[in-house]
Amino acid sequence: MKVARFHAPGDIRLEEAPRPQGDLVIRVRNCSTCGTDAKILRHGHHRLRPPRVLGHEIAGEVVGSGERVQVIAAIPCGTCPDCRRGRLTVCPNQESMGYDYDGGFAEYMAIPDKVVAVGGVNRIPDGVSYAEASVAEPLACVLNGQELARVGEGDDVVIMGAGPIGCLHVRLARARGANRVFLVDVNQERLAMAADLVQPDAVIDDSAVEQVLKLTGSRGADVVITAAASGQAQEQAIRMAARQGRISFFGGLPKDDPIIACDSNLVHYRELTIVGANGSSPAHNAQALELIASGQVPVADLITHRLPLDRVLDGIDLVSRGEAIKVTIEP
Ligand SMILES: [Zn+2]
Ligand SMILES: [Zn+2]
Repeated sequence: MKVARFHAPGDIRLEEAPRPQGDLVIRVRNCSTCGTDAKILRHGHHRLRPPRVLGHEIAGEVVGSGERVQVIAAIPCGTCPDCRRGRLTVCPNQESMGYDYDGGFAEYMAIPDKVVAVGGVNRIPDGVSYAEASVAEPLACVLNGQELARVGEGDDVVIMGAGPIGCLHVRLARARGANRVFLVDVNQERLAMAADLVQPDAVIDDSAVEQVLKLTGSRGADVVITAAASGQAQEQAIRMAARQGRISFFGGLPKDDPIIACDSNLVHYRELTIVGANGSSPAHNAQALELIASGQVPVADLITHRLPLDRVLDGIDLVSRGEAIKVTIEP
């Protein structure tokens, strides 16, 4: 079979490999790409020991039964104190598809027993395509973020970052009953492309704090979500939050530059809540599939590019240049 294997930063090779063996093997139909793949291609990752098949937004067909399934990316151990208390997204023993195990940029992929053990293989609902199902993983992460930030009825929500994750945040915030959703990005082209698809109530490409205060009658936003690896966006998020506002640092910062400035008195007097977000649980993945199947969070139109496996590098390149919303690989 054909696989796309990561050997070193800047070095992904299309190779022949033997078909994987195991109790559960899938014929990968769609594996979508995201910013993480672009980051790994450029810098590698401390947990990823090459050579490794990348790809963690996975949907395919079980070899033998033909069942259509979606596979989780983050694998909690299921047995540590955090997992036992239901905090699966922060399991300290977490492993990942495409990091610790070969991922979905391949014609076939073995599903590790650990994934099955934590309920990480979901049946794809009827009417949901493989391509749409592959977007359930990032949507699951977005769902975790909005649960933690308690996005709900009547909230004015600001999403900073108009990439695929930002688009999913806009759609999910609407599904959760947000009042107005504002989309912020400094890249005007990317913002226009995203806004065209997800129709936010306003777009902001400059002076984000001032613009949000203006749009909210100087009250600020109930929820601000930073879907960008930007410390400046995080600093702005704190300053544009309403009293009792919630701020989600959804996107992480580069590990050599993770310090931001925060006026702690804003947090104190305005009773702000700042939350993080780290991936998703198996249950979030199942819920994401339901949100897609029910039409509450449409994702088909966010898939702007479909490429064969031998063009995986072009796909990752499209993602890193911000010229696509969602790029999916069809091995
Ligand atoms: Zn991803
Ligand atoms: Zn655990």
